[in-house]
Amino acid sequence: MKCYSCGKGKLNPKTTEIAGEVRGEKFSVFSEASVCDGCGFQVLSDAQSDAYTVAISNAYREQHGLLTSMELKAARDRLGMSLRRFAEFVGVGVASVKRWEAGLIQDEAHDQLIRLRTDLYAARQNVRELEARFGILSPRVPPVEMSYRLRRPEVFDWESESPSVSGVSIAPGFFRGYCPPA
Ligand SMILES: [Zn+2]
Repeated sequence: MKCYSCGKGKLNPKTTEIAGEVRGEKFSVFSEASVCDGCGFQVLSDAQSDAYTVAISNAYREQHGLLTSMELKAARDRLGMSLRRFAEFVGVGVASVKRWEAGLIQDEAHDQLIRLRTDLYAARQNVRELEARFGILSPRVPPVEMSYRLRRPEVFDWESESPSVSGVSIAPGFFRGYCPPA
């Protein structure tokens, strides 16, 4: 295809680095485009433009610690939910979920809510932070596992199996034998 910028060169499909701006911040991502071999003019088809939007949004989200489009989709897939079901699950309209997955950047409040609702680790962290805040001392493992661990303390690795909660001190003698070291 002839370049319609210079009218001389030819447009060739190419993976190229394209700079852009998201919310006033500059990012550069690799994207598929047609590039003129004469003047370097770049053209994106509708599909390429959509892919570029997702890529540059993800660059912004990674920079700001937000879930990327793929991560949002993965969170939904993990729960085996349709767009509609997931939208209800996190309390937003189905259009919002569609737009987030297509590259619209979710706000921080929704990002946190989605993590709490879909990510076991984030949910546990939240419970632990609340326990610490409320000064609640609770056993970290179900009773069945506890008795097993009490019998065989040498096989239990507290560090990897039950991260300690910073800020929560265990009263002396309390749950001794199966509480992680404070
Ligand atoms: Zn050209």
